[in-house]
Amino acid sequence: MSAPEIKLTFDEPVQRKKVPKHLADYSPDERREMAKQFGLPAYRGVQVATHYFSHLSNDPQSWSDIPAEMRQSIADQLTPQLIHLVKSVTCDAGTTRKDLWKLHDGVLVESVLMRYTDRVTVCISSQAGCGMNCPFCATGQAGLTRNLSAGEITEQIVAAARACADGELPGGPTRLSNIVFMGMGEPLANYNAVIRSVRNITDPNPDGLGISARSVTVSTVGLVNGIEKLTQEGIAVTLAVSLHTPDDELRDTLVPINSRWNIKEVLAAADAYEKSTGRRYSIEYALIRDINDQSWRADLLGRLLKNRNAHVNLIPLNPTPGSKWTASRREDEAEFVRILESYAVPVTVRDTRGREIDGACGQLAGAEKIKSD
Ligand code: SAH
Repeated sequence: MSAPEIKLTFDEPVQRKKVPKHLADYSPDERREMAKQFGLPAYRGVQVATHYFSHLSNDPQSWSDIPAEMRQSIADQLTPQLIHLVKSVTCDAGTTRKDLWKLHDGVLVESVLMRYTDRVTVCISSQAGCGMNCPFCATGQAGLTRNLSAGEITEQIVAAARACADGELPGGPTRLSNIVFMGMGEPLANYNAVIRSVRNITDPNPDGLGISARSVTVSTVGLVNGIEKLTQEGIAVTLAVSLHTPDDELRDTLVPINSRWNIKEVLAAADAYEKSTGRRYSIEYALIRDINDQSWRADLLGRLLKNRNAHVNLIPLNPTPGSKWTASRREDEAEFVRILESYAVPVTVRDTRGREIDGACGQLAGAEKIKSD
């Protein structure tokens, strides 16, 4: 007798719509192959890359080296629009602008463009949400939705470069000078897409935007395997490590991945990065009142960093909705700076640009807000 047939039912796995492929997902050589796959001559891949990265053009009708009747379809094939602006909000007299983008599957991410007297910086998202679960960060509270593709990351950067060139920021046309991976997400948890995006930034025209690697900052919770891979990559971006406290006991709480890679291991990986690239790294430290801002912790941090080629970036905590934590008192912040300086550790206090528009650190979790608008 044959066994009765048992029917098992499973929940259908969530099928995500695949992100359309974009030439920014590929290396310059692969872009030529991509063109061929659409039945186009390989050089079309180079021509379109030139329009995209060198001319920042999103108007195929102006691509005069491509026959007029083919322009739109080639643009749709090689540079499909991956991010759609939902809304922009500005503050600081227009010099800070937060853009909310909708991706092809309805997922929302944000980027922030900031014009200073000497530079223009864009802070971009590498993931929708974040899986690192740091309790003081708004993005961390929502969990990870998905990784962004290199195209989706690069589109945020190219949109920022275009906004600068088109004179959308007060002060007239300018050039995008700095890119920081400090928006939503943990960049080293989306390693390949982030590296492709970094190369799109640093490769000279027409393969990329031709912005120097030192103007790019990759900020991480301290994924040691990712830092080690980055060290092998041979691109000298600025590495920023979100330390937030010099002791493992508290860091296990503030940055939960610390239970996988502790402070000693993270700093050793950052030191190796510094040795290999010659680039000083940054230590990010969100000052949280009565949590990590005591003078004994400043002292411990000073001792930890005094013989390292690191710079401390203190960030006044930007309280997230519902959080019991808040920024440090001014006098505690000043004392923290003084103690670090007594160890000759370079230290700056980050400005708090974009606070009124929820565009400051850790506040880029616009998805919920928009849904409830
Ligand atoms: N996942 C990366 C990038 C995150 S955002 C990382 O953790 O480094 C960039 C910086 O903003 C990080 O140092 C992060 O810890 C910090 N940050 C997050 N939430 C914050 C908040 N509410 N106030 C101040 N800084 C915050």
